[in-house]
Amino acid sequence: MLSAEQVAENLAAVRDRVDEAARSAGRRPVDVRIIGVTKTHPPELARAAIAAGLPDLAENRVQEWRAKAPLVPEARWHLIGQLQRNKVRDVVGRHVLVHAADRRSLVDALSARAQLLGVLQRVLVQVNVGDDPAKGGCAVNETLDLVAYARGRAHLAVEGLMTMPPMPPPGHDPVAAARPYFATMRALRDEAQSRFPEVVHLSMGMSGDLEAAVEQGATMVRIGTALFGPRGQGPWSPSQEER
Ligand SMILES: *Cc1c(COP(=O)(O)O)cnc(C)c1O
Repeated sequence: MLSAEQVAENLAAVRDRVDEAARSAGRRPVDVRIIGVTKTHPPELARAAIAAGLPDLAENRVQEWRAKAPLVPEARWHLIGQLQRNKVRDVVGRHVLVHAADRRSLVDALSARAQLLGVLQRVLVQVNVGDDPAKGGCAVNETLDLVAYARGRAHLAVEGLMTMPPMPPPGHDPVAAARPYFATMRALRDEAQSRFPEVVHLSMGMSGDLEAAVEQGATMVRIGTALFGPRGQGPWSPSQEER
C-alpha cells in the first residue's frame, strides 16, 4: 500500500498532466476535475487523497462502496460502474453523481428512488462508444434519446455523458487509441448540449489516456492507478483488514 505522502505526490503529478494537457488544448485547467478511483484500495488511501485535496472519489461496485464509505466520511462519492436496479436504493441521494445511467429501466429506477427520497439526483448518461460487449453504456445512436428520456424525469438532472473506450490493442499507445473515441464523445455531447444546455460534462479519461480525454474536452477524468498504485486482487472489504 502506498503512503499518504506518495498519494499526495501522485496527485500533484496527475494534476500536472491534466494542467499541461488542458493548456496545450487551449483549455483552462480548472475546467477539468480529477476523480480518484479507490476501488480495491483500503479506506486509508481514500482518506489520504482527501487530505491531499481530492474530495471527489469513485467506486464501481456498490457493495465495496457500502463497506468503505462510512470510513471515509468526507468523500464526495461518484458511482462509475454498471449499476443494477436492485442496488439503486443504496446509491440515490448518497452519491453526488451517478456516471452510469445507460438504459431506460435504470433511469426509471433512479428517478423513482429520487422521488421517494425527495432529492434531485445528478446523473451522466453512459455511452458504450466502442460498442464493446464487455462494457456498459447505451449505443452511440441511442444517446440523444436516452438523454431526452432521462431529463424528462422530474427528479433527475442529466449533466453530461460518460464513457470508457475499449482497451487499446497490445503494443498500441493508449492515448492515440482512445483519441477517436473521445472525439466521438465530444461531438455527441455538443449535439446533446445544443438541445439541452445543461448537458455540459464529459466524464472520460483514465490513468493511461487522460491526455487524449482532456484534449477532446473531458471535464472529469477518473484516475485510479496513477494515484493509488496497482489495484488489489479484488474488492476491498473490512474482513481483509483483520487477516
Ligand atoms: C477503474 C476505473 C477507472 C480508473 O482506471 P485507471 O486506469 O486505474 O486510472 C476509471 N473509470 C472506470 C469506470 C473504472 O472502472
